Amino acid sequence: MQVALDDYVWAAGVATDLVNTAPEVWHGEDKLPDLASLAAFAEAHEPGPLPELARLARPTDLRTIHGLRNTVRGLIDNPDTERLIAGATALTFSVGSTTLIPGPANHTRWAVLLQPEANLFDALSLICGVGILGVMQTLGENRFRPCGAPTCQGAFIDTTRPGRRRYCMPGLCGNRVNVANHRARQADARSR
Ligand SMILES: [Zn+2]
Repeated sequence: MQVALDDYVWAAGVATDLVNTAPEVWHGEDKLPDLASLAAFAEAHEPGPLPELARLARPTDLRTIHGLRNTVRGLIDNPDTERLIAGATALTFSVGSTTLIPGPANHTRWAVLLQPEANLFDALSLICGVGILGVMQTLGENRFRPCGAPTCQGAFIDTTRPGRRRYCMPGLCGNRVNVANHRARQADARSR
């Protein structure tokens, strides 16, 4: 089973989504509470090895993946170059060997083969590590940020070209801020 090395946007997106399943982002409710939610998370991040590995996941994997989620959050919250590179490198321990896999239009892509005994935690660790390293190489350390919504505890890795993303879940937190601003303007207009 392999993980492509050249799609840091996808990999960083997996890292961002993983971090934002944490209870502190959802007022105490863990969005990865059981194996079924883990399988749904894996399915939402196809293509790649995650869905197949999620079908083999066990309750102990849930604990290690919650630990990984904390580790990645710690890296996003402390975006220092050396710390990010060292932390992300440590997440890539499950690499077996580097190879080329078929890509679009007869091109090949850099990829790493997971060790045969690798589990979902190993694959997710590797993907988060690859995502962080890819963003560091291409975009830099100022792409690791807390959510801009005042009431949200989320965080994200900004892989947009201009680098002006503001929210951990743009559809949700961005909308919440818009609604709050709209209500504040209406209240302001009424009080005049
Ligand atoms: Zn948010």
